[in-house]
This record gives sequence, C-alpha cells and structure tokens, in this order.
Amino acid sequence: MDERPTPIVGFRCWVLELGKPVLKSMAMRFEWPAGEIAEATCMYSPHDPPRHQAPDEGCRCGLHARTTPQGCGEEYPYYPVHGYWAYRSAPTSGLMAMGAVLMWGVTLRGRRVIRAQYARVLCLTEKPDLWAPRSGSNDPSRVSAENVARRQQTLDEICALYAVPMIPFASVARYASEFGDLTEGGSELAA
Ligand SMILES: [Zn+2]
Repeated sequence: MDERPTPIVGFRCWVLELGKPVLKSMAMRFEWPAGEIAEATCMYSPHDPPRHQAPDEGCRCGLHARTTPQGCGEEYPYYPVHGYWAYRSAPTSGLMAMGAVLMWGVTLRGRRVIRAQYARVLCLTEKPDLWAPRSGSNDPSRVSAENVARRQQTLDEICALYAVPMIPFASVARYASEFGDLTEGGSELAA
C-alpha cells in the first residue's frame, strides 16, 4: 500500500447512457462526478457504513483503472459494445467510453489493475477501428448508424461537462503522463 505524494495515471472504461452526459462505472452503481474528485467508498461491505477505508487489501473496493490503455481493450474485447448490457437486450445502453484518470490517496497497484481512494477524469480517448467487424454476438460493426451518432454526441457533451479533451489513442499515455506517473506504460513511452 502506498501513500504517494505523486498521483498515478490509469486507464479505464465507462458505460454510457446515450443522450445523457455521465460516465458510469462498469461494475458498480456509481456515476463519476463531472469536474470533481471521485472518492471511493466500499460498495462490497455487508456493513453500513463500511468498516474499512476503500481501497482495502482484503476487498475488491476502490476506484478501478488499468495500468495501460491496451489493458482496457483486453478487458473489453468488443469495446465499445458492452457485452453485459447487450446480453440483457438493451443495446442502446450498451456502449462505452474510454479515458485516462489520475489516481491518488491510498493506491493499490498490481501489474494490470490499480485501485485508488481518489481519482478524477483527465481525458477521453478513442481507439482506432472502433466499429470494425469482430466475430461474436457483440460485433461493433452491427451497431446502428443512429447509435454511433448518438454515442459521438454524448461523448462531446461529456467532454464539455467534465471539461476534458478527447485525445487520440496513440498519444493518450503521453498526454496523461503530464499529470502523474505512469506505471507499466512508462517503458512503452520511452521506447
Ligand atoms: Zn471494501
């Protein structure tokens, strides 16, 4: 466990609600606040209030991010289609956004995943070949043109409301590194 003075950079996805400028956590019922600091509280505890500060070594709680932008793609192979919601037959709610976050306070860092006490959104990013065909039931190329356009409009509104830029995928790690330390991504940047 670290109490580091220098914030660290992570990369993550959010669920979008088309037409509503809000970034929602993937797994938990949590909306990332626009232009403010997100603070973790344990949402796994059977106790109310929780008996530990989030994140905790023995729990899964905390604000989550991956150590690299590529890690987001590994976690969600059908990105930007969110398989869970597609499975629940709600395709218009089943699209995602991706971005970089700054994390600090109590931080627990694994090789692939970071969990933190505090975080804020630094920027959104967009992968190349976003809508390219992929085999399987959540093929992004099957998303309707209308929902592609509505997703873009929602992302534009999020960037305005959260006051963050849209950064190309190829330069998102470099952009985020202006704000804090990269973990694994640092070696890739230097190469
Ligand atoms: Zn917990």
